[in-house]
Amino acid sequence: MADPKGFMTTPRQEWARRPVEERVRDWDEVYVPGALLPIISKQADRCMDCGVPFCHEACPLGNLIPEWNDLVAREDWRAASDRLHATNNFPEFTGRLCPAPCEAGCVLAINQPAVTIKNVECAIADRAWEEGFVPARPPERLSGKTVAVIGSGPTGLAAAQQLTRAGHTVAVYEKDDRIGGLMRYGIPSFKMERRHLERRLGQMRAEGTRFRTSTSVGRDVDAAELRTRFDAVVLATGATAWRELPVPGRELQGIHQAMRYLPLSNRVGEGDLAVSPLSAAGRHVVIVGGGDTGADCLGTAVREGAASVTQLDIYAQPEAARDEYAEPWPTYPKIYRLSPAHEEAGELRTAPAAHADARVFAASTLRFSGDEGGHVRALELVEVDERRQPVPGTERTIPADMVLLALGFSGPDREDGLVEQLGLVLDQRGTIARDIGFATNVPGVFAAGDAARGQSLIVWAIAEGRAVAAAVDRYLTGSSQLPAPISPGDKPMRV
Ligand SMILES: Cc1cc2nc3c(=O)[nH]c(=O)nc-3n(C[C@H](O)[C@H](O)[C@H](O)COP(=O)(O)OP(=O)(O)OC[C@H]3O[C@@H](n4cnc5c(N)ncnc54)[C@H](O)[C@@H]3O)c2cc1C
Ligand code: SF4
Repeated sequence: MADPKGFMTTPRQEWARRPVEERVRDWDEVYVPGALLPIISKQADRCMDCGVPFCHEACPLGNLIPEWNDLVAREDWRAASDRLHATNNFPEFTGRLCPAPCEAGCVLAINQPAVTIKNVECAIADRAWEEGFVPARPPERLSGKTVAVIGSGPTGLAAAQQLTRAGHTVAVYEKDDRIGGLMRYGIPSFKMERRHLERRLGQMRAEGTRFRTSTSVGRDVDAAELRTRFDAVVLATGATAWRELPVPGRELQGIHQAMRYLPLSNRVGEGDLAVSPLSAAGRHVVIVGGGDTGADCLGTAVREGAASVTQLDIYAQPEAARDEYAEPWPTYPKIYRLSPAHEEAGELRTAPAAHADARVFAASTLRFSGDEGGHVRALELVEVDERRQPVPGTERTIPADMVLLALGFSGPDREDGLVEQLGLVLDQRGTIARDIGFATNVPGVFAAGDAARGQSLIVWAIAEGRAVAAAVDRYLTGSSQLPAPISPGDKPMRV
């Protein structure tokens, strides 16, 4: 550490966000461009280089956080980039999108605000691209082995990059018309602009990874036949089978699944559509579901010009600080967090009936009611107790002429027939079953990411992609030097 007293003399300072009024008028990232670099070396210097860095353990990738904090404090950006890329293929994605469990595990966070680890990661990644520290790294020799990766989300991309660099010939099959998985058509661009994705894809193409878009394995290509054409197959198909809300009135028009709504908005950003056919403009929007997908719907509806937006969360409002007994340091606690979308909703008062932001906590949907034309007009809700049981007498109706269901995902999408064609065994949760070595019941077929783990995070997806690549490399060649940061059974740190 450059300054041993940095944590005592420098307060935590995060990357500044643009004013709400300004940023809701565009789809660019919410942060002030150029505001991170001038502050970040002092922030990195707050790292204590403690003896047992729990941030390593908290990050599924095992990012070498104290090492690159020190290098950033000394402004050695090239070495910092090398150390960061040693464990993370796509730090510009995690530097923007990760909820940063590492910061919850930072030793400084025991009694002070944590080091801004995620911001440091993002600064290194962006600086590395600006300075040309991340050229394409094509393999020196080809192995003669071929691998099909099915799915181009962060899992498939990380697996493909690792395997390509190890010398295997890799083709990525993607059923959508563009590469990126949920980073392309799920996550809105105000969280991560697509230019970051394009830049990495350019690097991967230059390294030799091949991409086949608009190709559903199962529908356009027979999965069993694909298995015979390649030496190994990696299933990285995600888990986007959404949960339903079976209440009276669900059949009314104007009630949509979040993952029908968000991709259309992202297609406007891609230039495919002038206006989303499901635009929230002028509508009273209610989002059912309190998670990240719901927050993404919130930020999107605000930018589309909704008349009002309310988000219903079935859970009670979390406390502002962690419960030291139930979720002690260094675990990632469930606390009240104000995402940029919630900050916007709070400042713009998008939901007059909600308290601090658009969220109504401890609320369950009873039914929808509609007009004579069969279009939704209102939602009846009831307050629930901690066992999710309705509290009598708390029923009320709120206007809703557009409803977005963001209730999470139950497992992989089964519509394309891939599971049946390969004869894959699923586990009890409906995700693809695999052994300790990421292998499915079908020889030569491996499974990774949300498809096998269930809905998770980008950082876990990249870790899964790296680990499955090591397993496939070993299967193809008998041994592997590729790193495997996690095992299939690994879980976030808990008590
Ligand atoms: C709206 C939303 C917002 C999120 N925001 C965040 C966030 O801010 N931070 C975070 O860390 N995580 C976030 N997540 C979670 C994160 O995006 C996922 O955990 C991650 O993308 C999983 O990666 P994956 O590669 O396993 O799957 P996916 O990203 O889902 O990619 C799977 C890909 O496989 C393709 N595919 C499926 N079947 C086939 C087939 N038969 N043939 C060909 N291709 C196929 C799909 O089209 C898709 O492109 C969010 C999730 C959602 C839904
Ligand atoms: S990937 Fe996430 S957990 Fe890991 S260092 Fe970056 S922000 Fe922290």
